[in-house]
Amino acid sequence: MRVVILGAGFGGLELATMLSSVDQGGVLDVALIDKGDAFVFGYSKLDVMFGRTTLDAVRLPYRTFAKPGVRLLRETVTAIDPQERRVTTDAGVHEADVLVVALGAEYDYEATPGLTEFGNEFYSVAGAHRLADVLPQFTNGRAIVGVCGAPYKCPPAPSEAALLLHDVLVARGVRDACEITIVTPFETPIPPSPETSKALLAAFAERGIEFLPGRRIQALEAGTAGLEDGSEMSFDLFLGVPKHQAPDVVLASAMAQDGYIPVNSQTLETRFPGIYAIGDVATASVPKAGVFAEGAARVVAETILATLHGDDPPAPFDGRGSCYIEFGSGRVGRVDIDFLSGPTRTGTFQAPSAALVEEKRDFGASRRTRWFGQVAN
Ligand SMILES: Cc1cc2nc3c(=O)[nH]c(=O)nc-3n(C[C@H](O)[C@H](O)[C@H](O)COP(=O)(O)OP(=O)(O)OC[C@H]3O[C@@H](n4cnc5c(N)ncnc54)[C@H](O)[C@@H]3O)c2cc1C
Repeated sequence: MRVVILGAGFGGLELATMLSSVDQGGVLDVALIDKGDAFVFGYSKLDVMFGRTTLDAVRLPYRTFAKPGVRLLRETVTAIDPQERRVTTDAGVHEADVLVVALGAEYDYEATPGLTEFGNEFYSVAGAHRLADVLPQFTNGRAIVGVCGAPYKCPPAPSEAALLLHDVLVARGVRDACEITIVTPFETPIPPSPETSKALLAAFAERGIEFLPGRRIQALEAGTAGLEDGSEMSFDLFLGVPKHQAPDVVLASAMAQDGYIPVNSQTLETRFPGIYAIGDVATASVPKAGVFAEGAARVVAETILATLHGDDPPAPFDGRGSCYIEFGSGRVGRVDIDFLSGPTRTGTFQAPSAALVEEKRDFGASRRTRWFGQVAN
């Protein structure tokens, strides 16, 4: 069975790892295709921009991903034909019996005029890396952490950016000369978890961080941000979350609807037989975060193996996952999301602590070991 996985991010890496570890008979031919040369955890972008680590230290080169039965191909996907389950890349054509699209979400910078010219964004690796040089120069005035569109990856990240910015400004002794404002289209920091939102709002209030809900950033000019409600706000530093969209190759295929790939939330099947979509590229009724991409990947891996062995289909995707939240002051909180297993969506809050700092570290270390064979230190 030829399994072609597009995208070696959270979802693709987990899927390929599972298929490799369970397929002892070697009856699967797995091709994992990515245009990049390394994986970087989303949360590492915060660490890089705030100078807590370097880009080199957090890059996980794909050449160290070695799994029996999996070919990791560095190619750019240029076309997807879902009727034929055929993928064209800059290096050739791949025919699949099972095709899994795990291409993530990219950024539509043009959707927010002036963003790249007058602001900064911290959602791409390059943007976070650039900010590591920009942030030390910010010593007074207003910083805006601004969201340019929803949905966006990792809903806590703008709150985390504001709290970590507060810490670095305090450490540099310039916090009193600076204002920090969060602008977001959501009404609360984490809509599915009122408890988490309440704790974040309390943390903002304690630190004098302003929270402006219910409006997104529409455009930037030099030193001024235009908000959706027609108001304007001056800034000296702009840290943006760009509007997201599926990669162009997905939008150009027959799979996309309303910007992403619709799937059956329980099975991750698209409307095309033998084609699944997982992670940020899919609309599976879960937030766009790595833990959900990983959970979806597990269901698809189990489905492929069940088909191979003639077993019953696996349990449906439960939409459960925990997201860690940097609260500043060396503490991390956690929100446990459950979107699909019960009658209502829930988001249970675990208060920030030093123990959760360790837990978050273990989360990353376990994936580095499992996917890249790195020994935890
Ligand atoms: C600041 C920040 C903090 C975050 N913190 C967390 C966190 O704490 N916990 C958490 O769970 N999630 C977090 N996330 C979100 C997380 O990074 C994403 O949700 C997750 O990576 C999605 O996984 P994915 O497999 O769907 O896509 P990705 O991991 O984005 O992988 C998609 C892959 O597809 C490849 N690709 C795209 N187009 C092409 C093409 N045309 N040809 C070939 N390859 C292509 C890309 O190179 C990429 O490697 C954070 C994100 C950000 C930005």
